[in-house]
Amino acid sequence: MAKKYNKSVFLTSGYPGGMENNLLELAESVNLSSCASLDGLARKLKAELPACVVIDEKNLQNLPQFVEDTFTQKPGRRFIPAAILTSEPARIAPLFEASHTPVQIFHRDDKDGLTQFIEESIRKSIKIKFWGVRGSTPCANSENIYFGGNTSCVQVEIPGYEKLLILDSGTGIRNLGTYLQNYNRSSIDGDLFITHPHWDHIQGFPFFSPFYSKENRFRIHMPEQYRGGAEEILSGHLTKTFFPVTLDMLAADLTYVTQPEQPEDFGAFTVDYLVANHPTKTAIYRFKINGYTIIYAPDNELPLTRSPLRFIDKFCEFIHDCDLLIHDGQYDLEMFKDRKGWGHSARERVVELAKRSGVKRLVLTHHDPSSSDHDLRELSGKLQSYRGDTFSFVELAREGRMISLPVESE
Ligand SMILES: [Zn+2]
Ligand SMILES: [Zn+2]
Repeated sequence: MAKKYNKSVFLTSGYPGGMENNLLELAESVNLSSCASLDGLARKLKAELPACVVIDEKNLQNLPQFVEDTFTQKPGRRFIPAAILTSEPARIAPLFEASHTPVQIFHRDDKDGLTQFIEESIRKSIKIKFWGVRGSTPCANSENIYFGGNTSCVQVEIPGYEKLLILDSGTGIRNLGTYLQNYNRSSIDGDLFITHPHWDHIQGFPFFSPFYSKENRFRIHMPEQYRGGAEEILSGHLTKTFFPVTLDMLAADLTYVTQPEQPEDFGAFTVDYLVANHPTKTAIYRFKINGYTIIYAPDNELPLTRSPLRFIDKFCEFIHDCDLLIHDGQYDLEMFKDRKGWGHSARERVVELAKRSGVKRLVLTHHDPSSSDHDLRELSGKLQSYRGDTFSFVELAREGRMISLPVESE
């Protein structure tokens, strides 16, 4: 059965003033659900995740705290697009600057802006959700909680496709598991594509709760390593010496796949990969989904020279004209100079090659554990100067960020 895409919109305090007509026009395509109060909204979110939330609240005093508490209370809620209506956007915006929940603020009279926000939220689209964006090691520090301390994990939702598609099982996958437990009541079928078995890409593996239910089925894909395929590598990692749970104790039906580089067709998507420039065999996965090309390369060193031979040429060819590139941006050029051969890239080099290759959207990820929110925010501002040319956006990956790529309705 094809998955119905989400069209529900939660509104607080009834319809926003003067919005009735715009919302009525949309009413054909959305399920508007009005909550009497903020508490009512919080209660509703416990049972269901809407396509978006519109908050129209006169008393703005406690709103930032409410948004923070409600949207960060359970994993997954931060992915819900939230709009706040106010008559003083300029005064309100700074209150939400440090919020962990990405909110959009609209003037009460900006009916077109709000209508567009709702339309974009309910539109049928591929959704790319960032559950873990940190490289090397998780870091649970107050100074990097805004961008997030969990290691690599990305989820790709494909409209009309019931199965889960997960990229890497760093510690971010634990929150994905909790989210699925909260909102997914049926059995889960999914594919997990692991780029390579460095700790930061598999450390969350035994903490993914759906692995402990025999109702669930997963295929675990990984490029072949020196010591074997996905099963050998993961069972070596999950031995009693390192962790009390061994691979055979996981109740779900798990199949292990040594992923070939050649394109493979999974129906809703195809995948192939280029071997990254990284200390172990690592995939730069390329997914083709609904006409989009999405490339995931969390660990890849882009050398400044022509060595290894032709790597840069092969890489540029592989990413040519892609719609979305999620790439390792662990260092800047200054840091990179002392870390050549470590397997990670300088952001400046990534931007340069992505631009040269006609990449349309660029997201830099695998942030260094020593990069604080302050550092990354500053960098984020600088990155905006690259916008335009070929990029429709260039940004830093952040836990809780969702990217939507609209899909034509058939
Ligand atoms: Zn890594
Ligand atoms: Zn690595």
